[in-house]
Amino acid sequence: MRRTRLGIEPTEVRSGWVGAQLTAHFLDSLLRTPAGDSRLLRNFEFLGAAIIGEPSFVAAHTAARAAAAGKLLDAIGEFEDSQVALRLLRSCAGHARLTHSVRCNPPLAQQAALVDFDLAVRSCFSSFSGIHLDETQWTQAGRSFAQAGLGLRSVSRDAASAYLASVGATSSHAAALDPGYVDTALGTHCPVQEALAAFNSSLAIPLTADQVLSKRQHELTQLLDKHSWEQQLAAAPPVFQATLRSEAEPGARAFLATIPSGRTRMEPAAFCAELRHRLGVPDSATDAWCPKCDGVLHSHSYHAATCCAGGERTLRHHAVRDLLCTWTTRAGFQPVDEHHLSGRRPADLFVSSYLGSPTAFRFGFHSPTAAGDPRYGVAASVGRGDCLCGDENGASPDC
Ligand SMILES: [Zn+2]
Repeated sequence: MRRTRLGIEPTEVRSGWVGAQLTAHFLDSLLRTPAGDSRLLRNFEFLGAAIIGEPSFVAAHTAARAAAAGKLLDAIGEFEDSQVALRLLRSCAGHARLTHSVRCNPPLAQQAALVDFDLAVRSCFSSFSGIHLDETQWTQAGRSFAQAGLGLRSVSRDAASAYLASVGATSSHAAALDPGYVDTALGTHCPVQEALAAFNSSLAIPLTADQVLSKRQHELTQLLDKHSWEQQLAAAPPVFQATLRSEAEPGARAFLATIPSGRTRMEPAAFCAELRHRLGVPDSATDAWCPKCDGVLHSHSYHAATCCAGGERTLRHHAVRDLLCTWTTRAGFQPVDEHHLSGRRPADLFVSSYLGSPTAFRFGFHSPTAAGDPRYGVAASVGRGDCLCGDENGASPDC
C-alpha cells in the first residue's frame, strides 16, 4: 500500500539469500516485472562486500579490491625508511585491506586473488627492505611477534579462519532476523565444510565444525601460528632454534611494535640487520674471518654480536647500564653506578634499598647461539647485598 501511495515502482530486487523461498516473503510484483521477467539481482556489492552469487563474481570482486590496494603497496615499497614502511605495511596496507572480503565470503572462490595479493605484499617487503625471503622465512614473517614473526599475515592462509569466525559469530543474529536462515546444522553447510577443510589442513589435530564456529578469528589464527611455529622449530638446526626462541621473547620483539619516532626510530641499515637476524637470512654466502679478532665470522653474523674486539661490546654494556641507571633514578632508588663493594669487583649499579635490601646489579649478555647454552637474550645478574660476578659475556666468576 505504501508503495502505491508514493508511486514507487521497483526496478530490481537484490538478494543475498541462498536457497530461500523469496516468494514466501515478497509480493510477486516485487520479484517480477509486469512482463514476467525476474527482477532478482544476485551478483552485487553491499557495504563493500560481494553478496553471495556466482563464484566468478566473488573472485572478481576480491581481485578488484586487491588490485586497488596495489598502488599503496607500490608506494610503500619505495620507502627508504624500512622501519616506517614495515609498520605501514603491517597496519594498513597488507592483511587489513582484504579482511572484510575474507570475513564476508567463503575462501575457496577468492583463493587465487588472495594468493596474488600475498605475492604483492611479499614483493613490497622485498622492495623496501632489500631482503628476499624463501618460503620458510616468509611463512615465519607471517606469524605474530610471539612466534618470531613480523606480523605480515597471509590473507590466503587466514581466509578460512576469518570466514568461519565470522559465520560463527553472526549466525545467531542472522537467525533472529530470518528464522529460515539455518535450516540444518550450520556446520554441515557446504561453504562451512570447505572452509573447515582448508583450516584443518594447516593443523596437526583437526577441529570439528562446532569447535571452530565457537572461536574468534584471533583464536583460530593463533592455532595456525602455533602449528607453524612448532613445525619450524622441529625442522630448524639447533643454532637457529636458539635464535627463534630468543626472537620470540618480549625484549627481542619490542622493536617491531614501537612507533618509529624520536629515540625509538632505528637507522634503516640497523633495522634491516635485525630483520635478517630474526628471519635467519644470511649476511654473506660463506663464512669468513673476523677482521677485528681473526675469529670465524659466521655467514649469519652470530659472531658479530659477541666479538670481543673493536669496543662495541663495552659500548653495549655501558648503554644498558646507563639506561637502567636512568630508570632507577626516575623510580627514586638513588642508584650509584660502578659502585665498589668493600674492595671486591664493582657493581654496575648499586642501590641502597631494593625490596628492603642493599642490592648490587651486574649486567651480563648471553648470545642465544652460544655453544651449549640454552639461555637466550640479554640476562641481568642480580645479587642482593653482594656482588655477583661475570664479565660482559656472562663468563665464569673470577672474584
Ligand atoms: Zn671478532
